[in-house]
Amino acid sequence: MENLYSLTAHELKKKIDSEGLAPSGILDSLIKRIESVDKKIKAFVSLNKGASVLSKERRGKLYGIPVLVKDNICVKGEETTCASRILKGFKPPYDATVIKRLKDEGAVLIGKSNMDEFAFGSSCETSCYGPTRNPWDTDRIPGGSSGGSAAAVASDQTILALGSDTGGSIRQPASLCGVVGLKPTYGRVSRYGLIAFASSLDQIGPITKDVTDTALVMNVIAGYDEMDSTCVDMPVPDYTKSLVKDVKGLRIGVPKEYFIEGIDTEVEAGVRGSIDLLRDLGARIVEITLPHTQYAVSTYYIVAPAEASSNLARFDGVQYGFRAQDAKDLVDMYIKTRSKGFGNEAKRRILLGTYCLCAGYYDAYYLKAQKVRTKIKEDFDKAFKLCDLIATPTTPTPAFRIGEKTLDPLSMYLSDIFTISANLAGLPAISIPCGFSKNSLPIGLHMLAKPFDEETLLRAAYTFEQNTDYHKRKPGL
Ligand code: GLN
Repeated sequence: MENLYSLTAHELKKKIDSEGLAPSGILDSLIKRIESVDKKIKAFVSLNKGASVLSKERRGKLYGIPVLVKDNICVKGEETTCASRILKGFKPPYDATVIKRLKDEGAVLIGKSNMDEFAFGSSCETSCYGPTRNPWDTDRIPGGSSGGSAAAVASDQTILALGSDTGGSIRQPASLCGVVGLKPTYGRVSRYGLIAFASSLDQIGPITKDVTDTALVMNVIAGYDEMDSTCVDMPVPDYTKSLVKDVKGLRIGVPKEYFIEGIDTEVEAGVRGSIDLLRDLGARIVEITLPHTQYAVSTYYIVAPAEASSNLARFDGVQYGFRAQDAKDLVDMYIKTRSKGFGNEAKRRILLGTYCLCAGYYDAYYLKAQKVRTKIKEDFDKAFKLCDLIATPTTPTPAFRIGEKTLDPLSMYLSDIFTISANLAGLPAISIPCGFSKNSLPIGLHMLAKPFDEETLLRAAYTFEQNTDYHKRKPGL
């Protein structure tokens, strides 16, 4: 019998609908799989063995399909820690809107996935639980910060997963683990119940085995929510209608600033080859320019830590999670709680962000960064007059080794160079598997579209996927 854990959501849906497959069979198969492989991968921070379909009144859109949730998304009554000591023991009294929608559609929540602490990182190494490992080579990082979600999808330990993306945290791990990751347009998916990192950049999105599953998840999680003031009230299309095998006439822009010195030659060859394939399938390739790209990393690493330092002020030991016990007075309690509760990267971001926001420096850093951010957005506005999509690599290199960049935060930050502009400009962007290096590490193709045009992204991604088999390859575990 084929292993149910290795199937996609759309394959399982068919079995449930027409062959009478019971959701409990899928869960049993997954739990066995998790028990045999997660010792090596460590993608889960909690596993809900007793999970079941919660909404039994009707067969929803994801009836019986297991979903793994990144540990920064609130699930009522389930410990939600952002992989930080400071939130140990925190059980949210409410569901995030995306969780409520998944439950209403019959999805089965199987657990929480590992991540960089508070989503600060690109490698999953800043987690208080220790790193997750890349299923393609367990000496390497899975990417981050949604590394647990991507590694679990790649190693068949869940059918679907949710991640969050502030500067690449869905797309970069999806790319390094050889799966599909979509960051929706800012405002497309409600962030209510997502523990905030940088509120002007954060989005929740799916990590899946193929593009069809991405469309299925988007049909459930996208749409207006009055609980999130940044969520846009626009009709949600049926994303499965975008799964069309046709890119004829589509104009794909290739920015010259993204094929720079320092990019790995195998990554460059894989991505260029993929763009050629899209051209052979009927797309028109146009050279474009995004001249402010060189400022994206520095802009992001002012805006994101500034917002993070403000968001993290609420973790003071009073209301949530961990509180240091040996304090003399209130201020001492704050100091001890935050000193023990936060890890080094979180402290670095709080310091950087607080510095950038303080009275004498606000104009020089935060305000200036916001102005450059507008320039970056204008680059995209101009480019999208010439093209419908933009194609780039997702990451400059395949997965690096655990420990390789931990002592050099700057080189870690630079690994986000291709993903952060989409967040700064609020654009939707997807990473799909597009090749492998000689030593069998996945390579990702990154595509960006105009705001709220996830449909064109899905159409191009689906067409590419239907003409290749990279998404079908599995790591040998
Ligand atoms: N790697 C980036 C950072 O460290 C992005 C993280 C994210 O998207 N959450 O900030």
